[in-house]
Amino acid sequence: MNWALIGASTIASQYMIGAIRADGAGRIGWVVSGSDDRAAGYAKDHGIAKWTTDLAEALSDTAVDAVYISSTNEKHHGQALAAIAAGKHVLCEKPLAMNAADAAEMVRAARDAGVVFATNHHLRASGSHGAIRALIAGGKIGRVLSMRVFHAVELPMHLRGWRLDNPDAGGGVIPDLTVHNADTVRFLLGEDPISVVAEMATTGLGQGVADSAMSVWAMPSGAMVFSHESFTHPFAGSGIEVHGTNGSIFAQGVMTQEPVGTIRLVTAAGQADIPYDSGSLYQAVISNFNASVTGAAQPSASGTDGIKSLLVALAVHESARTGTRHVLDYGDAA
Ligand code: NDP
Repeated sequence: MNWALIGASTIASQYMIGAIRADGAGRIGWVVSGSDDRAAGYAKDHGIAKWTTDLAEALSDTAVDAVYISSTNEKHHGQALAAIAAGKHVLCEKPLAMNAADAAEMVRAARDAGVVFATNHHLRASGSHGAIRALIAGGKIGRVLSMRVFHAVELPMHLRGWRLDNPDAGGGVIPDLTVHNADTVRFLLGEDPISVVAEMATTGLGQGVADSAMSVWAMPSGAMVFSHESFTHPFAGSGIEVHGTNGSIFAQGVMTQEPVGTIRLVTAAGQADIPYDSGSLYQAVISNFNASVTGAAQPSASGTDGIKSLLVALAVHESARTGTRHVLDYGDAA
C-alpha cells in the first residue's frame, strides 16, 4: 500500500508512520502540510521522498493508493472529499469532522466512489478492549446495568496548542476525548446511546474551550453510562468499569495509545486477572485497513462508527451548552 500523509502531525510521527511501515506492508510517498518548511523538515525527519503544500499535487500521483488524514479537525472534511474524488482510500482521524453532516458527506462520498473509508478510533484495536468486549458478549457479567469510562488525564506539554485555545480547529476535550469514550462504549456494549445529560467546565488549561466534561448516557438496553474526560488531571488515570447482574469488570489504564493496563473480572466465583493480546493498537488499525482494501476484512472502526461517535460527543457538548437532556438522532449516520 502506497500512502500519502495529509498533515505533518504528532500522531503520525509518534505512531502512524511506524504502523504503516511495520512489516514492510506500507510505503509513505508524500507528506502534505500547510507549511513548506514544516513539510520539508517532516519529510526529512521521517524519510519521506516527497512533500508539498498543494494537496492536489499529492493526490494526482497515481502511485498513491491511500491517504492518512491527521490534520487539525476542521480540515478533515475538505481533505477527505478531495482524496475520495481522486480515488484514494481514506483513513481519517477522529473526530471525522466539525459536525455530523460533514462527516456523513465524507462517508457517503467514499461509498459512492467505492473506496475504503475508516476512522482511526484506535481503541477498538486494543487487545484490552477486545478482551473486555468478549467478557461482556460471553455473558460473564450477566446483563449490563452500568458502565463508567474515565479518561481524565493531564494533556502533555507538547500537545498544548490548538486543543486548548482554538474552537475553530476543533479544540476542546469533547472533540478530543469524549469522542473516544463514545466509540469505546458503542464498541463494548454494541449499542448506541439514546440520550445524554452533561456538564462541561474550564478547570485550568482551556481558553475558550472546555477542558473537562462529565456526562450520563441512557442506552437502549436500559444500561446507564457515566463518561468523564479532562485535560487537567495529573493523577486520575484512565479506565473502564462495566457492572452487570452477575459480575463486574474493572479495567485500569486502558484508555491509552499503548497496549497497557490491567483487567480484573469480579464475580461470585472470585476475582480473576484477564490476559489480553498486547500488540500495537495502531498496527492493528493499519493491518485491518489494508485487509479492507483487498476485501478480506472490515476496518477496525468504519466511517459510520466515526459519525455515530461524533454524534454522541456533539450531543454531550450540546447538552452541556444548553443545560438540557439531548436526545440523539442517528439519521445522519445511516
Ligand atoms: P498536531 O498539532 O501535532 O498536528 C495537527 C496539525 O498541526 C498538523 O497537521 C500540522 O499542520 C500542524 N502542526 C503540527 N506541528 C506544528 C507546529 N510545530 N507548528 C505549527 N503547526 C503545526 O496534532 P495531533 O497529531 O495531536 O492531532 C492531529 C489529529 O489526530 C487530530 O484530528 C486529533 O484529533 C487526532 N489524534 C488522534 C489520536 C488517536 O489516537 N486516534 C491521537 C492524537 C491525535 P499541517 O497540516 O499544516 O502540517
